[in-house]
Amino acid sequence: MRGVANIRPLLKVIRSRLSRPFPVGITGRLMFSFVAVAVLAAAANLIVEHGVEVIRTSHLDRGLISLRPVLVERAPAHPAVEGPAPLASPAAYYPDSLTAAFERYQRAVEVRASIDSTAAAAETLAAAKTLDAAAQSLNAVSTRHPPLVQTTKAYEAAGSAYVRIADARRSALGSYVASADSIDKRLMTSLDGAWKIFGRILARQSLMQLRSEMDEVRRNLIRLTTSGGDRTAAVDAAAANEAAFAATFNAHAAALARSEGNVWVRQMREDFAKLVEQRQAIVALDRESLETESKFENARNRLVETITRAQAPSVAVSKAPLQAPRETPAERFVPAPTPIASPVVDTITTTTAAADGRERRTVAWITAVVLGVLLAISVSTVRSIVVPVSRMLGAAEKIAGGDVDIRVPGGGLKELHTLGAGFNRMAAQLAAARQMTRDYQQRLEEKVEQRTRQLQHLAEHDPLTHLPNRRQLFVLLDHALQRAAQNRRHVGVFFVDIDNFKNLNDSMGHAFGDRVLAGIAQRLEETAQSFGFVGRLGGDEFTAVYEDAPSADAALDAGRRLVEVFERPFVINEREVVVRASVGASLFPNHGNRAEDLLSAADAALFQAKALGRSQVAIFTPELLATATRKFTIEQGLRRAIEQGEFELVFQPEVSLDSLEMVLVESLLRWRLPDGRQAPPAEFLAVTEESGLIIEVGNWVLRKAIETAAGWHHGEWPEARVAINVSPRQLLDRRFSEYVLDLLREFRIPARCIELELTESVLQNGPATIESLRYLHSNDISIALDDFGSGYSSLASLENLPLSRIKLDRSLIASIDSNPRSAAIAAALIGLCKSLGLGITAEGVERPEQFEVLADYRSIHLQGYLISRPIAREQIISVKRLIPGVMQDLLLSIPAARANSKLEDVEAVRSVAPGSGNG
Ligand code: C2E
Ligand code: CA
Ligand code: CA
Repeated sequence: MRGVANIRPLLKVIRSRLSRPFPVGITGRLMFSFVAVAVLAAAANLIVEHGVEVIRTSHLDRGLISLRPVLVERAPAHPAVEGPAPLASPAAYYPDSLTAAFERYQRAVEVRASIDSTAAAAETLAAAKTLDAAAQSLNAVSTRHPPLVQTTKAYEAAGSAYVRIADARRSALGSYVASADSIDKRLMTSLDGAWKIFGRILARQSLMQLRSEMDEVRRNLIRLTTSGGDRTAAVDAAAANEAAFAATFNAHAAALARSEGNVWVRQMREDFAKLVEQRQAIVALDRESLETESKFENARNRLVETITRAQAPSVAVSKAPLQAPRETPAERFVPAPTPIASPVVDTITTTTAAADGRERRTVAWITAVVLGVLLAISVSTVRSIVVPVSRMLGAAEKIAGGDVDIRVPGGGLKELHTLGAGFNRMAAQLAAARQMTRDYQQRLEEKVEQRTRQLQHLAEHDPLTHLPNRRQLFVLLDHALQRAAQNRRHVGVFFVDIDNFKNLNDSMGHAFGDRVLAGIAQRLEETAQSFGFVGRLGGDEFTAVYEDAPSADAALDAGRRLVEVFERPFVINEREVVVRASVGASLFPNHGNRAEDLLSAADAALFQAKALGRSQVAIFTPELLATATRKFTIEQGLRRAIEQGEFELVFQPEVSLDSLEMVLVESLLRWRLPDGRQAPPAEFLAVTEESGLIIEVGNWVLRKAIETAAGWHHGEWPEARVAINVSPRQLLDRRFSEYVLDLLREFRIPARCIELELTESVLQNGPATIESLRYLHSNDISIALDDFGSGYSSLASLENLPLSRIKLDRSLIASIDSNPRSAAIAAALIGLCKSLGLGITAEGVERPEQFEVLADYRSIHLQGYLISRPIAREQIISVKRLIPGVMQDLLLSIPAARANSKLEDVEAVRSVAPGSGNG
């Protein structure tokens, strides 16, 4: 344990040292390795090159060496010193002195011819003197040998010539060798200059080839110096080699001049010319040499003959050996190998096979060691880079996998250490960034949650009143129904509709309307708190739900409380606003089990409540459902009628009591049902207005009526006038007046051709409608107030509306003949309108009695079944013609006194009113 404790600080130091950057960078590390490799390669190259050079040279020179034993054998240390070798000779037959002298001279000449040395020359000279002396002495004792001296002289002269030629040839051969050496040396210098790797020379192929060709030349040179008989062949071979060399050289001369220089090429050429010259000289000398050789041989033979003859009888036997010497002179006089004193040869002698083997082994060892060191350097270099890089790769992969806490150890090469440090910094930043992202994500999630809650609130609540919207209301109602179903209790559903809210909105503006709605919502919510909740379905429609209602009566009571909410006026912008509402109620489970069913039941009940009058509560009954269903069916049928053109117009005449003429027709809408029946407006008009389809239908009526008026105006009835019924909803459309004027323009009829009929209810439309009516009136369009005198007709409408005519309601006319009150009201109204300058039409004249009463009033119009029912457009013109007659008949049917006076009045009117005469 203590030991481990001691080691720990040491390890720490080592670790800290390792984590410090290695002072050498990748570049330095690689440079070091490359330099080491280069040095090793160069060293190896040198060593191997050296080794191969030795091997190559020795291989070439071994050819020369093989001649050496011959040379050594044939050239003893010195013949003069060692004396002539024992030789079979004619000595046995001659006196010893002459024979010995002859043999000595012969051998001395042979040696002298082969070696040009002072000793050999002295020996030759001495041998000649000895031979001369022997010949002289032999001549002195016997006169029978007078030619002996002469023959000896001739023999010596031939010997001297032979030696001279041998010297000349040797000298020529030496020059030849020198030239070849010079060429070879120059080639070698060039090759030595070339780069060598492991003994392979990276040089020009031509240089290598020249070198090998020169080797051939030199190899033949050896043959020239050695073989006697093959001289010609050797010379020929040398010539052939020279030619090959010359061809190669000439072929590559230009390239060599570029690589080796012009001087080099010129010198090569000069040396080569010399080489050729010298070989030719050798050929000449060879020829001469043969001649002198045979001359020397002849002279020797003659001397031998002279000696033989001088010793006459005893010589006959001994002649044979003399004539058949052991060697022919040519053979014996094989020129001793010229001592070619080249340094190569000196080197050669040192290179033996054993040395070669040792060299090879050394080279192999060195190569192995160098390769080993190279491998070690390479591996360590690769490891110094790859190990940290792969560590970093591993770390990068871990980071990519999400482990940002990973760190790579420092140390190693400078750049890699820096890279590792940078990597660690990046990892740290990444970790920090990840933490930041996490925080941000958390905040974002919180925000999203908050926004989602807000969105959910928005999605579930109405932004204006903050009450649950339609969707949420259904959800809450469904829950309430589930609970009630489980507990066997009632649930009350109330449909609250604000009366005439549209008018309030239009007249006071939407912002004001919104504040009213918010106020209503607040009050409804306060009230509903005690029994359930409230939601807003849209517009001015609210829904309240009585959860867990104990009984149907309790639910109805709650409905009443909701209506009472509106008893107090609302104060908006310091203004008091009185708002009324109607409430329709339905009950679970009595009127349905599902939210939708209960809501539509409450809606049907609401319709009923409205029908009952303002501020009413009505609870659903099955009959209401039937009405609602019928309404729905009609609405669907109306849509089809619009699309398929099932509407028609009929026209009912209005007749002037003054002229008895038809002066106007009222257009009345009919719906031709698929079964052919014509439905009157009473059957469908209410639904048309409620559904909003009245705009489309009304526009169709306008167009059709104006088109019909135009047809008459431009045709058989130029004064045609058509009254068109207009619903208040149509007048709410701001484009209405322009539409009417556009149609007039389109069908090119004057404004007086039409009259618009409206009821007092348009006053509820607000000021905009009155404005547009004024606009139409200012454009010469007559406006009639329909159904006047019914219900709660107000004189205010006469004052406020831009009117041209009043139509007295059928209900008033109905009892005009029987009820003095009605008659009085009619009389008062007619008087009032006349004084206001308004035209008057009495509607619904059905009976002659009514006619009789009305006939008293001058200058009013009459309309009713008594004169004409509504008829098709095609019938109008013919009916128009018949009407004056009908009117006269009606007047005539009145008791005589009154009728006459009336007819007189008519005549008077007709006579002053032009254009109405012949009707
Ligand atoms: P209205 O404007 O008062 O039209 C007169 C109605 O009284 C017509 O009924 C007509 O056929 C009927 N009538 C005329 N003379 C007599 C009579 O002597 N006795 C009786 N009992 N009825 C008579 P219709 O055609 O059924 O129209 C009913 C209502 O429908 C019209 O009352 C009018 O308010 C409305 N209407 C008709 N056509 C149109 C239209 O094109 N547009 C609009 N907005 N409303 C129309
Ligand atoms: Ca009318
Ligand atoms: Ca009417």
